[in-house]
Amino acid sequence: MTNYKIVVLPGDGIGQEVTTEAVKVLRAVGQGVGVGFEFEEALCGGAAIDAHGTPIPGATLDLCRTADAILFGAVGGPKWDDLPPEQRPERGLLALRKELDLFANLRPAKLFPMLVDASPLKRSVVEGTDLLVIRELTGGLYFGEPRGIEKIQGGMRGINSMIYTTPEIERVARLAFEVARKRRRKLTSVDKANVLAVSTLWRQVVMEVSQDYPDVTLEHMLVDNCAMQLILNPLQFDTLVTENTFGDILSDEAAVLAGSMGMLPSASLGGKTALYEPVHGTAPDIAGRDLANPIAAILSAAMLLRYSLDLPAEAERVETAVLRVLEKGYRTKDIHSEGTTLVGCRRMGELIVRDLETLYT
Ligand code: NAD
Repeated sequence: MTNYKIVVLPGDGIGQEVTTEAVKVLRAVGQGVGVGFEFEEALCGGAAIDAHGTPIPGATLDLCRTADAILFGAVGGPKWDDLPPEQRPERGLLALRKELDLFANLRPAKLFPMLVDASPLKRSVVEGTDLLVIRELTGGLYFGEPRGIEKIQGGMRGINSMIYTTPEIERVARLAFEVARKRRRKLTSVDKANVLAVSTLWRQVVMEVSQDYPDVTLEHMLVDNCAMQLILNPLQFDTLVTENTFGDILSDEAAVLAGSMGMLPSASLGGKTALYEPVHGTAPDIAGRDLANPIAAILSAAMLLRYSLDLPAEAERVETAVLRVLEKGYRTKDIHSEGTTLVGCRRMGELIVRDLETLYT
């Protein structure tokens, strides 16, 4: 029997509640399809600061390097808000991404039909939205040197540098074409090639890579237009790829299309071991009260099955179970509306596991 080692980093707040449910779902998949999962839990974020004085202990990093995949919850909370930036819980996640060379962040924004009314956009615009933003995660403005604030004559000067090399663009473009190939074979590359030199190079490299993917339709879109098109006509998009800063902004915008934060999964790919996490944070306002929506974490586990373990049929089974439980009218508080049945985090997890089990019988 194939055995997979999954490192679970629940982190803080609702991270702990939602990863517990996602692990139950993976266990059910394991039983259903006959693969073994070995789950190893480790500390990260605020919990790790409290126990070891660092957001990402060496032992956690070592464990992650040996895993087939990492299931991550969320980190942070008011308890650690006053720490200096370099000691905060979020540093743990950044260090992990860097250490594992996770250069591409995948964020699907799929609107479930029964949640159309939870979207701030009109039904006629948003119904049927099913897109995926791929954001380059380790380069560009957030990492480029020189950076900083310096004194100049007559005041101060702030500097950040947007830098991309050909190999950095090529690897994320290649990954994007591969992903688009498994979806509806349309890739939109987003840049600002009318103004930025970096974007001119970006576009050039993406076009070169596209030669290897004649079956995927490539289009280029300027970032300002893309921001507008996402809310005017989201149905035109399938897979989007863009650099770090543009991706940060556009993926949040795309997230809003799909309604609640509690529904949005993500994957960070690149090196040997990938990391899967819900898009949301630790939600201190509801933590520890069984109110969190575990669906984002469960759909992140589905992405883990698809991208790290190459089990697309099992990923689809999990997504179907989520859909069917929503179809039956069960809702956590964040997506609850009149006429639906309110359930807590644990119960929602239980319902999805039970539905999944029926898909294996
Ligand atoms: P948040 O995502 O934690 O919460 C925003 C709002 O959405 C809250 O009202 C919360 O109750 C709600 N919400 C979020 N996830 C939910 C879920 N699964 N079910 C139901 N409701 C949900 O964002 P925030 O309040 O800005 O941040 C809280 C903490 O989380 C901060 O310390 C922040 O730094 C951290 N954070 C961590 C990550 C991460 O680890 N990747 C991401 C974002 C924020």
